[in-house]
Amino acid sequence: MFVPTRALLHVDMDAFFAAVEQARRPELRGLPVVVGGERGGRGVVSTCSYEARAFGVRTAMPIGQAERLCPQAVFLPVDMGAYVAAHHRLVELFRSVTDLVEVVSIDEARLDVTGCRLLFGPPRAIARRLQEQVHDACGLGCSIGIGPNVLLAKLAAELAKPGGIGELAEADVRGRLRDLPVGELHGVGPVTQERLAALGLTTVGMLQDIPFAVLAAAFGRGAHGLRQLAFGRSVATLRRTPAAPKSIGHETTFAEDVNDAETLRRTLVALADRAAADARRHGLAPHTVTVKVRFSTFHTVTRRRTFGRPLATAPAVAAAALGLLDELAVGARWVRLLGVVVSSFRHGAFQLTLDDGWREVALAEAVDRVHRRYGSRALRLAGGLGGSAPGLSGGAGQAGDRGGGASDGLSAVASGGASVIAPAVAGRPVAGFGGGSAGGLAGSPVARA
Ligand SMILES: [Mg+2]
Repeated sequence: MFVPTRALLHVDMDAFFAAVEQARRPELRGLPVVVGGERGGRGVVSTCSYEARAFGVRTAMPIGQAERLCPQAVFLPVDMGAYVAAHHRLVELFRSVTDLVEVVSIDEARLDVTGCRLLFGPPRAIARRLQEQVHDACGLGCSIGIGPNVLLAKLAAELAKPGGIGELAEADVRGRLRDLPVGELHGVGPVTQERLAALGLTTVGMLQDIPFAVLAAAFGRGAHGLRQLAFGRSVATLRRTPAAPKSIGHETTFAEDVNDAETLRRTLVALADRAAADARRHGLAPHTVTVKVRFSTFHTVTRRRTFGRPLATAPAVAAAALGLLDELAVGARWVRLLGVVVSSFRHGAFQLTLDDGWREVALAEAVDRVHRRYGSRALRLAGGLGGSAPGLSGGAGQAGDRGGGASDGLSAVASGGASVIAPAVAGRPVAGFGGGSAGGLAGSPVARA
C-alpha cells in the first residue's frame, strides 16, 4: 500500500502585530512600525515591521533604544484586541483548507495537508494559495514551511521568512540542513548554542557528526534531544485544536424543585459566572445571553437578549441573565431546572477591558516568547514589561474569577466543539493564562511574531 509522506504546513505570520497595524492603516505601509509602546515610553518592542528591522530594531528591545536606532519609526501601543480578532479570521481561513489545524500561537499554526492533496494539489500549491488568501482576506503576509514533521516544517518556515515558502524533506537533513548554524534549530537557545560552541560545534552538520559519547559527556541526558534536532527528527505530532464553540452554557437541575427567588438568583449568577469563565478561556466575548427555566411541570421557557457590546466579564453576563430571569416572571412557580447560555461570539468586535484575561495572556506570551528567543538572561528584561504596561499586572486569571457557587449538579454544555482561543496558550498556567486551548493564541497568546 502506498503511504504518502506526511505533509505539514507551518504558517508563521510575518511581523504579525505590526502587520495588522499596517493593514488597517494603509498610511503606515512601507514605514518602520514599532509595536510595544508610545515614543518616550518605558516599554519594550513587542513586534516591529521589517522596515524597522532594517534599522536594527528587534523584539524585546527597550523602546528608547528602538527610538535611537530608528527615530523616524511610528511607535504604537499594543492593541491585543485587534490582533486577536485578526488571529480568529486567520484560523477560520486555515480551517477552510483542513480541519487538522493546530494553533501554535497567536501568529503561528500548523496544518496537516496530507489528506488534501487530491483536492487541492501538492503542498506547495496549497501553501501558495493559502498565502494569497491570507493576503486577500486580511492584508497580511506569512511565511510557510513544508515538511514531513513539525520540526522540519517549522524550520522551513523560519528559513523562508519573510513572505516565502520553504520546504525541507528528509533528504535535506544530510544536505541543506548541515550548513545551518546550530542556533537555527528550534530548541537550541543562546545558552545551548554557547555550550556547543565551546565544543567547537557551530553547524548542524557538526552536531550530526560528533561522536555521541562526546555529546553525552557534555550534555548528559540532553544529548539525545540535541542529536534528534540535528537530524530533524521529531516524534511530536500535530495536536488538533478544536474549533471554537458556537455557544457555551451551563445548567443545573435542582435536587428538589425550587420556588424561592433568592435561590434562583444565586444559582443563576453561579451559572453565568461559569459560562463567562469558559467563554473567556476560549478568548471569546459573548453578545447574547439566554436564560432557560424548566418548571416542575416540565414546561420550559427561554428568554434571550443580544447586546451591542460584548459582555467580556462575568458580572456583565450575570447582570444580563438576572434581567432575563426577571422578565420571565417566574413568580412562585416551582422550578426544576435553570440554565444560562452565552453565544454570538463576534471575534471582530472583541473589546478588551482592563480586567480582561487577555492582558495576562498577552503578558504570559510575551514573556514566553522573549525567553525562547533570547534565553534566560532576557527574563530580567521581560520583568520590566509589567511596569511599562499599565494593566498588565492585574492579577485575576481565570481561576480567580470563577465564582464558586455552582456546584456539583452543574453540567457544561458546549456546542460545536470546545474551545479555543489561544492555543498556544493552552495548558500553560503561566500568569493566569488558563485555557486549555487557546485560541487565539497558543503558545500563549501574546506576542509572538
Ligand atoms: Mg511570526
